[in-house]
Amino acid sequence: MNPAAEPIILLGPPGAGKGTQARRLEEQYGMTQLSTGDVLRAAVKAGTALGREAKTYMDAGKLVPDDLIIRLIEEWMQKPEAKKGFILDGFPRTVPQAQALDAMLQKRDLKLKAVVEMKVDDAALVERVSGRFTCTKCGEGYHDSFKPLEKAGECNKCHGHEFIRRPDDNAETMTTRLQAYHAQTAPIIPYYRNQGILLQVDGMGEMDAVHAEIKKVLNLI
Ligand code: ADP
Ligand code: ADP
Ligand code: ZN
Repeated sequence: MNPAAEPIILLGPPGAGKGTQARRLEEQYGMTQLSTGDVLRAAVKAGTALGREAKTYMDAGKLVPDDLIIRLIEEWMQKPEAKKGFILDGFPRTVPQAQALDAMLQKRDLKLKAVVEMKVDDAALVERVSGRFTCTKCGEGYHDSFKPLEKAGECNKCHGHEFIRRPDDNAETMTTRLQAYHAQTAPIIPYYRNQGILLQVDGMGEMDAVHAEIKKVLNLI
């Protein structure tokens, strides 16, 4: 049996390394990453009704309303990818979202394998998002200092030449995003601790070390 067939949540503040680690697990274990942030950014770019509604919240660093996000996840759950293991990155972010997810999984006879909380200091988070950029072609994430391009102007993975920096990855918006995390998202930590599925890792180490720790707590080899 695929050891990673049950859904996993990567939980952590903005810039903690959720996307980075989700992609690594995806590559290694064939799980599908579902990043609500990526889905919302694609909707904004495409100019859909969902994107237009979400944009004002995202630009301000505020959470998009629960009903909108829950609808989005419900839609995704209908897809074939949702039948194999998946990694949720950026969802749930509030207790009502966590409750809605529980109901959706229960309906499908699925059970969460674990919630992995990645702990990173606020100061380090600001440094991480300030230097973040992404390849527009393949989505690979980079950092000016911590994960620079091997060859100037060229993606290590797909050799693409176009990169994007998120408009909300600036110090001012980060203050609002961190406040949202501490006030609205942190309460889901006790929610999952009470269910006995909360695992915690030190997200301050280097990417390889964090990856190794995540595999260890999840009993993956
Ligand atoms: P980060 O990777 O920096 O944590 P994301 O890419 O996950 O940020 O999210 C970017 C923005 O998208 C958030 O600031 C918020 O406005 C919106 N968003 C993403 N996921 C959710 C969610 N589950 N609930 C509400 N808003 C969300
Ligand atoms: P999140 O999805 O939680 O918002 P990302 O995975 O996008 O976070 O990481 C934020 C930024 O920090 C990216 O530029 C990424 O390359 C970098 N980064 C990720 N993990 C680490 C780490 N362990 N040490 C240093 N930088 C990291
Ligand atoms: Zn690329």
